[in-house]
Amino acid sequence: MLEMKKKIIGLVGMAAMLFALGQPAYADMAAKNIILMISDGQGFNTVKATDYYTGTKAVYESFAVKGAMNTSSAGAFNGYVGKPYDPAKMWSDFSYQKSGATDSSSAATAMYSGAKIYDSQMNKTTTGADLTTFFEKVADQGKATGAVSTVNFDHATPAAVVAKTTNRNDYATITSQMINSKLDVIMGAGHPLYNNNGQSVAANYGIVGNQANWDAITSGANGRTFIESKSQFDALANGTMNVDKVFGVAQVRDTLQDSRTGAPASATNTNVPDLATMTKAALNVLDNDADGFAVMIEGGAIDWANHANNLGRAINEEIDFNNAVQAVVDYLNAGTNGNDWSNTLLIVTADHECGGLWGPTSGAFNQVVDNGVGNLPGAAYNSGSHTNALVPFYAEGADADLFLAYLTGSDPNMASMYGIDTAFNWYIDNTDIFKVMDAANAAPVPIPASILLLAPGFAGLLVFRRKQVTVK
Ligand SMILES: [Zn+2]
Repeated sequence: MLEMKKKIIGLVGMAAMLFALGQPAYADMAAKNIILMISDGQGFNTVKATDYYTGTKAVYESFAVKGAMNTSSAGAFNGYVGKPYDPAKMWSDFSYQKSGATDSSSAATAMYSGAKIYDSQMNKTTTGADLTTFFEKVADQGKATGAVSTVNFDHATPAAVVAKTTNRNDYATITSQMINSKLDVIMGAGHPLYNNNGQSVAANYGIVGNQANWDAITSGANGRTFIESKSQFDALANGTMNVDKVFGVAQVRDTLQDSRTGAPASATNTNVPDLATMTKAALNVLDNDADGFAVMIEGGAIDWANHANNLGRAINEEIDFNNAVQAVVDYLNAGTNGNDWSNTLLIVTADHECGGLWGPTSGAFNQVVDNGVGNLPGAAYNSGSHTNALVPFYAEGADADLFLAYLTGSDPNMASMYGIDTAFNWYIDNTDIFKVMDAANAAPVPIPASILLLAPGFAGLLVFRRKQVTVK
């Protein structure tokens, strides 16, 4: 404890001294690896409901850097005009959160490319120009890149890692773009020869656009090893299989678990990997590249369950996502292949809230009620769609402190309304995810001491330095 205090005092002293000299407080090393994990459709109350159900907090809730995030897009083409979150309107009108919400493809573009675009489009500016994503940029620099999801690999969030289109449902074009991209890892659901219960069925190629795309995937186009069985994902995850590029399509159609039908609520598809296994498999491939890697890993069906107002399934999917984050934390704690918190930035966030989930009294701001471990918490959905409520973000590891400079939005009611940490009274914009990833990738990235000392999360920085390698 004394040692810890000395370190903190030392940091404060150093920052003050360098500030006096007009120098940056410190010059960070570049993050060699960047891991962006997205729980699609997750709001603050999804996190809280899952905590109550499991009786534990998700590992990312103890990350050193955290805050809220605005998710607004440019709006709809020829439709509504997207507007940034307005704290005053949020808390004065319960229905405010339900209008003008982003979709997943524009939200993904904001995070990957730093631009506000129209909903239902990917990596196309509002004037139709192509955007280059962070992942494409670092691939050009020689890093390995990947996109991993629990839903079909060509769905909005994983596809937008590289795809550029004005129509997110154009699976033929999107899949072709992904096949021809530099992605070293593509993993998800979306198998045209299986149904949502993981049963073999007659081919229906719509989910990959056409048979030619599927033939290219299964024949190893662009040097990717094709895998599909659970045992193949397991082998890649435990290291008994090792390849440099992979296209993994689990033997299920739309999503690993959430769309299953005809089974008891407790039964799950047993022929597919979970997201933690996919994550370990992806890391095993990506970390073969000595230059480092950048990957997006999505829990895609939290959103789908929230659209359906099915809290039990949403919690199932969130637990699966949380286990995948834990797998990454374990990987970094172990210093696997030289990758640890000193050279890897881990960001955990959501693209938007979905379902307008609040406490059991419908149509009103009230907190989710803890009904004990294994029991569904007291909660009510207030929407069948996305909302524009702020979502949480959490960051740990190399350059996580870069986020502090972007915590410029303020909503002093967040902590009291949700019953959460006051750190969430400050928010970033979703385009800041791109800015931080891009800055973390460049070396070195000094933060002026003047910004740090003014940043609302400065105290959080000290905590960050202290517990950097103690995530359990
Ligand atoms: Zn989404």
